Amino acid sequence: MTERRMMGELMRAARLHAVGDKMLVEDVPRPSAAGTDVVVAVKGCGMVPNLANVLANWETWYPQMPLPPRPAVFGLDPVGVVHEVGEQVVNVRPGDRVHVNPGRSCGACHACTSGAPQKCDYWMLGGYFGYNPNSLEMFERYPYGGFCEYMLAPQGALVPIPDNLEFRQATRLGYLGTAYAAVKKLGQLAGKSLIINGATGTLGVGVTLVALALGVSRVFAVARGVPLLERLRALAPERIEIFSNHDGSTESWVKSHTAGRGADLMVDTLGAVASLDSLSDAMRGVRRGGRIVNISGTAGVLGVDVTWWMDEQMELIGSVWFTTADGIELAGLLGSGVIDISVLQPKNWPLDEINIAISGVASGEGGFTSYLVEI
Ligand SMILES: [Zn+2]
Repeated sequence: MTERRMMGELMRAARLHAVGDKMLVEDVPRPSAAGTDVVVAVKGCGMVPNLANVLANWETWYPQMPLPPRPAVFGLDPVGVVHEVGEQVVNVRPGDRVHVNPGRSCGACHACTSGAPQKCDYWMLGGYFGYNPNSLEMFERYPYGGFCEYMLAPQGALVPIPDNLEFRQATRLGYLGTAYAAVKKLGQLAGKSLIINGATGTLGVGVTLVALALGVSRVFAVARGVPLLERLRALAPERIEIFSNHDGSTESWVKSHTAGRGADLMVDTLGAVASLDSLSDAMRGVRRGGRIVNISGTAGVLGVDVTWWMDEQMELIGSVWFTTADGIELAGLLGSGVIDISVLQPKNWPLDEINIAISGVASGEGGFTSYLVEI
């Protein structure tokens, strides 16, 4: 350990110096808290299944969506203990156990002040990527994601972790929060039926758990592999029906189970490299007047029959990430046991093995495995 590290000026961080390189674990300056910001001593950071794609391909696939400037500390889903608070921080104290919502925005525009920071022109996900060139200004203010020992965060990003969740479990809050925000956009669930396309992935399992907890009557779970679909059905066999879209059309299957009408609602949760055919097939399984929320990472241009859109009064809604308020609501549901995530198995690596971790995220059991780096 160097003298500067012993004096608290440096910390260990995994950094990416150039796209295509391995990450290097090295000493970097440690942040300090001022104003309304806090420093969180990171205990763990969720590893999203999409990370390898982002590191390798993002700037080619989506040149308008900037990665953080290199060398960059990635890490989307950090949890830890509040270490230091700025002089203007209220309501947060050193020692608080928190999840750090990585969503950053300007905090001052109409979108931000009306509780919709995802609509801000500066919106970005810390430790991951931005949504437009303005996001780079947010990366300057909050340069570190969660793959390091200490990170800076605004007080408005903190979600208290309920006492009944371990840190390892709480690193799933980001993707669960994304699922929760999508399910909220579906509206009232009582008596409704819901297609979950990509149901056995990280987002899909989250949507299933949240929708069941909030009272959905029927789930039409669609994915590729039958073993994970069977495991999903076991969560609530009386409410979940499963279908492998390797076996045919999702539209036909759903309509054959709904007297030809289709399901009331749908959430698409497919991954970055999925086929759009699966999405459009599932969409046709939604009934007249239905609502479709998209939280998939799938890229491409989807052909939409605009006559169907208008005549059948379909609602198509995009949903990205979630607000800290959504995170606080979700933490309440987890803390009271309304949503039970004990079925999700953590799989963890130490920070020194981060490169092994990045290539290992496909090795688990779909959305039933939570991948994380422990700090
Ligand atoms: Zn804003």
